[in-house]
Amino acid sequence: MQILNGQEVSLQIKNELKEKVNRLIDQGKRAPHLSAILVGSDGGSQTYVHSKVKTTKEIGFTSTLIHLEENTTEAKLIDQIERFNTDPQIDGILVQLPLPKHISGENVILSINPFKDVDGFHPVSVGKMVQGLPTFLPATPHGIMLLLQHYKINTNGMDAIVIGRSNIVGRPMSILLSSNANPGNCTVTICHSHTKNLPDICRQADLIVAARGKPGFLKGDMVKEGAIVIDVGITRVNDPSSKKGYILKGDVDFGSVAPKCSFITPVPGGVGPMTIAALMMNTFRACVENSSY
Ligand code: NAD
Repeated sequence: MQILNGQEVSLQIKNELKEKVNRLIDQGKRAPHLSAILVGSDGGSQTYVHSKVKTTKEIGFTSTLIHLEENTTEAKLIDQIERFNTDPQIDGILVQLPLPKHISGENVILSINPFKDVDGFHPVSVGKMVQGLPTFLPATPHGIMLLLQHYKINTNGMDAIVIGRSNIVGRPMSILLSSNANPGNCTVTICHSHTKNLPDICRQADLIVAARGKPGFLKGDMVKEGAIVIDVGITRVNDPSSKKGYILKGDVDFGSVAPKCSFITPVPGGVGPMTIAALMMNTFRACVENSSY
């Protein structure tokens, strides 16, 4: 069993980006600029957005973080996005999800300029991804593909299962794994809350991506010998003995699953850091492709 070390691979990607930023500066150009918007005070969202902003600083990007109150209106949020859309100094726009219930996530995503859609959630980006055209890929599935690529895992012809069908993880993951590329070229089954016999389906799989958000649900007896298991889940589980009062748990019961796997991602240190690295890659790309640059 080999651990797919997202921490290590993401560090390598970030170091490469840092060098590229230095080269831009040496050429008299400006650094890539990511603008993030956080609405409300959800603890998880605050942690995620702050770690994205921290990473931009580490690699020499410029960042702006706008924090709007929980009761902000959809119109006010879209107004802010419009300002970022037209600001030539800003390359990438990120709106931290989930949004409060009174705001339509669809309207907000639609309002982002697709050339600055570094999260890859805009329908223009999604459509291009489906057709295999160059575009911003959603950060989490993209990060997973980069991890498979880094470890030179040949996924050609594999039976892959994606558990979860969200627009940000499960669905795009299924598209990338089935794309005509390597990694890719998998025969993909996408499972969700209405799937019957999930354990039986999982036992057939060469590759499992678990993105359900239920800690430890994927057990060793649901996985075949030699499978590759990618754990996307991140759930805060109360733990009074830890400093923060909680620990982060993945969807995979690591203790029973890992011994059966050929490759597995840990939580933390697997998919999470790769997601941030992929977002930074998208932001760099937005910067160099920005027509006004
Ligand atoms: P979501 O709640 O939008 O989707 C969960 C999916 O699980 C749904 O599509 C649902 O159909 C499916 N599901 C529910 N019950 C099921 C069942 N019994 N059998 C099979 N499928 C079932 O969540 P999401 O945004 O896709 O995130 C999933 C998990 O990944 C969460 O823990 C989230 O925190 C984590 N996440 C991690 C990263 C990262 O960078 N590591 C990024 C995004 C999300």
